[in-house]
Amino acid sequence: MTAGVEKFAGIGMTSARTRARMVERLREQGIRDEVVISAMEAVPRHIFVEEALAIRAYEDSPLPIGAGQTISQPYVVARMTELLRAGRDLPRVLEIGTGCGYQTAVLAHVASEVYTVERIASLVAKARNNLRALKVENVRIKHGDGSGELGEDLEVDGIIVTAAATKVPAALLRHLRVGGRMVLPLASRDEDLRGVQRLTVIDKAPDGIREQSYDAVRFVPLLPGLA
Ligand code: SAH
Repeated sequence: MTAGVEKFAGIGMTSARTRARMVERLREQGIRDEVVISAMEAVPRHIFVEEALAIRAYEDSPLPIGAGQTISQPYVVARMTELLRAGRDLPRVLEIGTGCGYQTAVLAHVASEVYTVERIASLVAKARNNLRALKVENVRIKHGDGSGELGEDLEVDGIIVTAAATKVPAALLRHLRVGGRMVLPLASRDEDLRGVQRLTVIDKAPDGIREQSYDAVRFVPLLPGLA
């Protein structure tokens, strides 16, 4: 057992049961995709939060993960993953905003390959440790700025952005194959970057871009540059 897992061994005993309850709640909240439900059931969320908060890991609320950032509430993680999948297999996914790596671990269950980018170095290190502790092997983590060109020749089937923007980042859309989908929290004006946004789905169709809005959410803003 690795240090990261041992640390939480005490609550690990009950975590499978609390997680089953969390999944029941997700169903009640309207999550229907069984592939997503299984992923939420499989990933131990308590590993990703500070030890003092581990006891609250399965509540449906966002929690602090350090560096002023938050891990999204389980419903939002499940909802974004469900929207991204749209009932299809996802060979390759790009995530912007790794944070502690929880959403990444969920994506690793529903996609063959996950490429994730985080701008804060301390969170990159934290996510690497967390994913290593869980033996997640189909993820590549990059310390980088995901608001612009990634400087890599990468084509993906889905993109998930876990930080809020007022515009769809055009540079990212270039990495999405035709027929692929992007899910992100979009704010209608600058003031809402620190307020309420809408989960937005962007479909890259052969004849252009289609956009649809869903749930109201609250994410931290997508910021430029490295930290
Ligand atoms: N999905 C994460 C939570 C994300 S919080 C989890 O499960 O823990 C949003 C994250 O986006 C933060 O860690 C923040 O540092 C990161 N972020 C903000 N702007 C970014 C950018 N331009 N490129 C990469 N990451 C960014």
